[in-house]
Amino acid sequence: MADRHNAGTEDPHELLLRRHRAVMAPWVPLYYEKPLEIVSGEGCTVTDADGVSYLEFYSGIAVNTLGYRVPEIIRAAEHQLRKGVVHTSTFYLISAQVELAERIAKLSGIPDPVVFFTASGTEAVEAALLVTTEYRQSSQIIALRYGYHGRTFGALGVTGDRNWQGMGLSPLRVAHAHGGERRRGALAGLDDEAFVAACRDDLAELIATGTPSRTAAMLVEAVQGIAGAIPLVPGQLSAYRDVLDAYDIPLIVDEVQSGWGRTGRFWAYQWHDVVPDVLVFAKGVGNGLPLGGIVGRREIMSSLTSPSVSSFGGNHLSTAVASATLDHITAHRLPERAARLGDGLIEGLRSGLAAEPFVSQVRGVGLLLGIEYSRDSTLSPYPEMARRVQQNCRDNGLLVGIGGTHGNCLRLSPPLTVRQDEIHQAVRIIVEATGQARA
Ligand code: PMP
Repeated sequence: MADRHNAGTEDPHELLLRRHRAVMAPWVPLYYEKPLEIVSGEGCTVTDADGVSYLEFYSGIAVNTLGYRVPEIIRAAEHQLRKGVVHTSTFYLISAQVELAERIAKLSGIPDPVVFFTASGTEAVEAALLVTTEYRQSSQIIALRYGYHGRTFGALGVTGDRNWQGMGLSPLRVAHAHGGERRRGALAGLDDEAFVAACRDDLAELIATGTPSRTAAMLVEAVQGIAGAIPLVPGQLSAYRDVLDAYDIPLIVDEVQSGWGRTGRFWAYQWHDVVPDVLVFAKGVGNGLPLGGIVGRREIMSSLTSPSVSSFGGNHLSTAVASATLDHITAHRLPERAARLGDGLIEGLRSGLAAEPFVSQVRGVGLLLGIEYSRDSTLSPYPEMARRVQQNCRDNGLLVGIGGTHGNCLRLSPPLTVRQDEIHQAVRIIVEATGQARA
């Protein structure tokens, strides 16, 4: 507290950083040597506390689907705030919630769907684990290697990336199947067809020999976001589905990062010829308002025998804003736009970075992309290079994320409202930043 009184003598930014470090949990990492405080935004541009503007190509970790200062979002939030009710709890009827649930149910593609709202992606993953473990009376989950699903005991247990697992003290039984990162490890070098066959065989073997007689569910991301935007390959999801169907094991698709049009389809699972039994959403649904949830088959969703309440889940404000976000996505055909602009972004990056010796892959779908840096042809990860490029991008006016199991990927997930000229500008900055980082 006393530090605040030094405000007159210490640089305000330094002071804020010192106060942050003193009071915030130490496991919350901050980007950049000189961490950034964003204080305002408009479209895809944000401005920091020193008045410096940046193109924001991460959308607050794929949350700000429509970008910043969106008139429809402001109107929807103001309208609800002026009614004087932000929240009442799910013990009361909430018309905005019911309307949003109806829309999500319809969009889900799941037959006879039921919706449950939460306040975050992690909580939504937990809800999916809860209903499927109850439904199947089993605590065994199969998840994918390299996947990320959140930060609570259950969600961490199913997360296949050790960076986020801590000591791995999860109450669930979890087996991790092959099918994430495919250029390193046991399945390296296989073409798509052989890779899909190997994934199918691995899952079949895991179920037949490595798990108890009942498995609750298989949980996958259609595009592994935190892993650095690794998409499932064509045929992979249906190969899993075939194996699961033989045992009546439900399929949960985690669309927390990939949903809401980001990959060029409304849900990333729609790139595959499969419909999940339970779909998990969050992030982009509320354009920044904390909201997540699951939508799943009624039979599975009806398996809970006790009441289950998320106090914040789907409150008046978040669902009103989510419906306005959905209106905008639909009216402006943002999934199609994401597909088109994403193609241009990936092509621009691939050609601009083609001669860069440390760029080992530019990948992704729609506007969920990753650029991977490796030291050499053995694909030895080069995280220092990724961090230097991220810093150079910032110095040149572009904000991007870092990801990958080895921390060696730049992550791009701009708002779906990004303009073509902003895409060109971002490509130019990333190409220059990579060149500068190598020099
Ligand atoms: N699942 C996936 C695929 C995610 O990317 C994330 C967040 N990065 C989560 C779950 C957890 O969501 P939240 O941070 O809202 O708890």
